[in-house]
Amino acid sequence: MSIVDTRKPNPKHFISGATGDWEIVIGMEVHAQVTSESKLFSGSSTLFGAPPNANVSFVDAAMPGMLPVINEECVRQAVRTGLGLKAQINKRSLFDRKNYFYPDLPQGYQISQFKDPIVGEGEVLLDIDGEDIIIGIERLHLEQDAGKSIHDQHPSMSFVDLNRSGVALMEIVSKPDLRSSEEAKTYLAKLRAILRYLGTCDGNMEQGSMRADINVSVRRPGGAFGTRCEIKNVNSIRFAGQAIEYEARRQVDILEAGGSINQETRLYDPKTGETRSMRSKEEAHDYRYFPDPDLLPLEFDQAYIDAIAKDLPELPDEKQDRFIADYGVTAYDAMVLTLERETADYFEAAVAFGGTKRDGKAVANLINGDIAAFANAEGVSVYETHLTARQIAGVVDLVAAGVISSKGAKDLLQILIHEDKAADPAALVEARGLKQVTDLGAIEKIVDDIIAANPDQVEKVKAKPTLMGWFVGQAMKASGGKANPQALNDIIKKKLGV
Ligand code: ADP
Ligand code: MG
Repeated sequence: MSIVDTRKPNPKHFISGATGDWEIVIGMEVHAQVTSESKLFSGSSTLFGAPPNANVSFVDAAMPGMLPVINEECVRQAVRTGLGLKAQINKRSLFDRKNYFYPDLPQGYQISQFKDPIVGEGEVLLDIDGEDIIIGIERLHLEQDAGKSIHDQHPSMSFVDLNRSGVALMEIVSKPDLRSSEEAKTYLAKLRAILRYLGTCDGNMEQGSMRADINVSVRRPGGAFGTRCEIKNVNSIRFAGQAIEYEARRQVDILEAGGSINQETRLYDPKTGETRSMRSKEEAHDYRYFPDPDLLPLEFDQAYIDAIAKDLPELPDEKQDRFIADYGVTAYDAMVLTLERETADYFEAAVAFGGTKRDGKAVANLINGDIAAFANAEGVSVYETHLTARQIAGVVDLVAAGVISSKGAKDLLQILIHEDKAADPAALVEARGLKQVTDLGAIEKIVDDIIAANPDQVEKVKAKPTLMGWFVGQAMKASGGKANPQALNDIIKKKLGV
């Protein structure tokens, strides 16, 4: 690959060593299982969790004489993904055999794409601390998954489960454009979001439908690229961050001690937080790639690509732009709300509940604030909490109508979250007496009483108006937190003449 460094060194990302600063360089190869009912070259089911070897056809088991037949749905999903990554779709691509021996690979080779992949260069846009950063995509190719070897079920026997054998994978290769563990995690989250919006991969990392091989090297800031190590098969975004931090520090320590980095494949162990060597480059296979004679090249015409492009759903970046333009939410709120399509839908359902359009910023504040905190604590997404769009809309409407203050809204939300989970917000405000006092006469009475009882404080505030907050606090307390804050402020100012 021809590597062009597109990034300016950012001191925020530097790792310091005894001999000066270092910069991390990261490129990723993500394997994403294509959403499809059957495998890439056979009709077997791809259903997760079936008994071992239940989903294996003669093709998947590589019986002699069996021929692969391309699954057009998987091809279409790869093209859709390429378009979602704003990438070049190659009108002609080839399947190659990648030859190696392993018990879970009955063919003795993996059908993959090498020189001519189905998708070429594209990009993924990241929002890092409010800055737009473009991460280059080198290529996307289709390949089949291998089976699974099981070593831990019997002291002296190993087993092979071929259920995954032949399942379609997309390998999405980034350029080495990432510069920190934070960026790498954001990249994985964004890529996952794009795949899930498209419906081309379910992004389920625990079940292995999305795995990352992470290439890490270090260099002097802006200097020549260093030798990289590849951390294989990382299956969570959090682990990816931890693995990169550990690996970069390990490489810096070696280089600072005058050593050099051995290009190798490593494994991350979440239990120890360390990476360890699996094999060095010298032990790497020569895969003897050659075009698979059993498969014709894939050839598309422009009309096929155009028809797929026309059918793409709104993707996270577009949705984010629309949320900013239509609802006036901040770029950050829009980004958080659009990372999952279901969350974006939840937000829009609350904004438009009952056919009235309400303030998007107010809805975003509730969802990204207290509801997100609660969802986080529960380990679910906001849309998976018991709170309905109707309830969120109800709370926002009560604030908009001046029935409760924004502080009152927070209290009301806590009750809806923890106590009266299915309550109607308006009914709850009635039942619990949470209405804010907007009756000016009532507020005036409270303020008059406090002024009369505290002549010393009145003198102090007159001398130093910034001390007025004391009266606001006292009056708010006397009202049981229910006085309309704006009205309260105005009245105190008027009465004290400050
Ligand atoms: P290979 O063919 O050996 O897998 P590639 O050139 O395809 O190597 O690159 C594989 C991945 O490694 C890509 O994601 C790329 O961005 C990344 N990469 C390449 N060079 C470096 C480097 N010096 N440091 C970190 N990552 C790198
Ligand atoms: Mg590679």
